[in-house]
Amino acid sequence: MDDCIFCKIIAGEIPSVTVYEDDEVKAFLDISQATPGHTLLVPKQHVQDIFAYDADMAERVFSRVPALARAIKASNPDIKGMNIINNNGQVAYQSVFHSHIHFIPRYSTDDDFN
Ligand code: ADP
Repeated sequence: MDDCIFCKIIAGEIPSVTVYEDDEVKAFLDISQATPGHTLLVPKQHVQDIFAYDADMAERVFSRVPALARAIKASNPDIKGMNIINNNGQVAYQSVFHSHIHFIPRYSTDDDFN
């Protein structure tokens, strides 16, 4: 898609910090880190949101979630947990309309930890 910022990242037209990449998906650091290591996983093929996936593409993208979560957690012993979030539609706070899954590492030092 011509005006999609994540398609431009996948095409290498906009810089990003790559966390993982293969033929079908790319994971890169969120430009606005909710916590250190905040990562987005996206299909390389443009899919607007969860409602637009066919079964094959959904399997390819979502089946990678556990391994990517484990890899991010393994990258830093201070990561104690992780929020995994997928916003769909403007009313659900989706702001980039290329489907993506947020991986937000959580630390025992997070402000709201108790
Ligand atoms: P929200 O903005 O409410 O988190 P989304 O779930 O659609 O909505 O998330 C879009 C995410 O894309 C945001 O966390 C934002 O920081 C991130 N983002 C926007 N532009 C870029 C970029 N160029 N590189 C990396 N992440 C980006």
